[in-house]
Amino acid sequence: MKTIQPPKFESVYGPVSSWRYGRSLGIDPIGTVSTCSFNCVYCQLGEIERQTRDRAIYVPTDLILQDLEAFAPWDVDVITLSGSGEPTLALNLGELLTRIADRTDRPTLVLTNATLLTDPQVRAELARADRVSIKLDAVSSKRMQGVDRPVGNLDFNTLWSGIEQFRAQYSGQLGIQTMLLSPWDAETRAEYIRRMRSLGPDEIQLNTPTRPKPLTRQFDGRGNHTPPLRRPYPVQVFKQVSPNILHAFATEIQNATGISVRCAPV
Ligand code: SF4
Repeated sequence: MKTIQPPKFESVYGPVSSWRYGRSLGIDPIGTVSTCSFNCVYCQLGEIERQTRDRAIYVPTDLILQDLEAFAPWDVDVITLSGSGEPTLALNLGELLTRIADRTDRPTLVLTNATLLTDPQVRAELARADRVSIKLDAVSSKRMQGVDRPVGNLDFNTLWSGIEQFRAQYSGQLGIQTMLLSPWDAETRAEYIRRMRSLGPDEIQLNTPTRPKPLTRQFDGRGNHTPPLRRPYPVQVFKQVSPNILHAFATEIQNATGISVRCAPV
């Protein structure tokens, strides 16, 4: 059987093209072992190898900045911190955001699952990003446990409280990113809308799994891929929610809240 060797680790990758953010240069502060406080059933990294809520320096700041220099003058729309897991687990997140801003005026974006936002230190570091996109796949503990499979016994109310605290102190552009694996019932949609109205994000993105999940860790899961879904390794392909259902929910949210909603191109 052919073995695919892992590539040399590159902490900066792309630029990748994203329907959500345009041309995005990726920064991976997590490294060779996928590491996250969630283990989402649809994760494009595959099953998360290190499931933890512990912050650590996974990739040294100087290494990332050195890799970043190779991409000067950074002709991209945004510099995105996500990569091989949850970027707020990187203890050098704040330092990275500050030192990236010292080098380029390109906006920074952090994609986060919000699990650490009850920590004031994490909120303060994250607030240095120009844009933050928070994953919110559920409005109940039961659904969150089923879809996102958090580490430990995180309950939804704790997660939500961290998100609210961050919203209250953050002056940058805040997005909410929601993955639908199946259509939501009226009660769940109403609860989501109620929470979005009270939170007031700048934008909502509705997504459905357009990318397959590798069954084992693959580095190209960090990048952005569009169908066709061919991969040189085994994958799980998810059923998608139809564009009609996504757009109907988007209209429902927009009419009820006035918040701009965008849908994944399915
Ligand atoms: S939060 Fe992101 S990186 Fe973590 S398991 Fe979910 S999709 Fe994967």
